[in-house]
Amino acid sequence: MPEASVPQSLHAANQRLQNALQAAGRPAQAARILAVSKTKPAAMLRQAYDAGQRAFGENYLQEALEKQAQLAALDDIEWHFIGALQSNKTRDVAEHFAWVHSVEREKIARRLSDQRPPTLAPLNVCLQLNVSGEASKAGVDAEALPALAEALLGLPNLRLRGLMALPAPSDDPARQREAFRAVRVAFEGLRTRFPEAPLDTLSMGMSGDLEAAVAEGATLVRLGTAIFGSRPPVGARP
Ligand SMILES: *Cc1c(COP(=O)(O)O)cnc(C)c1O
Repeated sequence: MPEASVPQSLHAANQRLQNALQAAGRPAQAARILAVSKTKPAAMLRQAYDAGQRAFGENYLQEALEKQAQLAALDDIEWHFIGALQSNKTRDVAEHFAWVHSVEREKIARRLSDQRPPTLAPLNVCLQLNVSGEASKAGVDAEALPALAEALLGLPNLRLRGLMALPAPSDDPARQREAFRAVRVAFEGLRTRFPEAPLDTLSMGMSGDLEAAVAEGATLVRLGTAIFGSRPPVGARP
């Protein structure tokens, strides 16, 4: 069976998000889709763009920069960096993205702020929270989160928007919800502690667990497979 076209899949994904919002008793505008386009060619992003999608998430810097160059004419496209972020990537991320979701260390945040060109708006940042039980060691622990948030709020060229989480995949909706609930609790804790901060973003939920994330308050769901189809396994990537 051929995979659905990008516009068809995007339409279905938007419908799925709307159904999840409605089931959660949340307004239709309460969450939006980040189209995660890693490993997919610029032509497929262009198809999604033509179908109305504006926010795109990329994990691999060189691949992202190539696609940005190919799509440079689309001046209202919004690029989000969601991949692992080391010091040697901060300059390109600061110069070429509107958002970064994977900040977990003060040193990286400081570099991003220092390297953000003054001609651009502040870089929107989500701190990546390590949810317990997660396979990867990425992300800041809940205990260390307030201090990191406070440090970030002092950096002039960053705008702290919220949290990103990447819980271990599970087929069990109750376990999915439990992980997302922990992220929401941490987010609410930050909002209480820093009432002046522009904290409005919970980046959580992917193709396999969107409903659970929306039920727990996600405002930005990161969908790859649901929009662009399956990807080659990690080891097979260029
Ligand atoms: C790949 C990726 C996604 C999208 O995953 P799908 O299961 O294809 O929807 C979301 N977030 C991050 C951080 C990713 O690396």
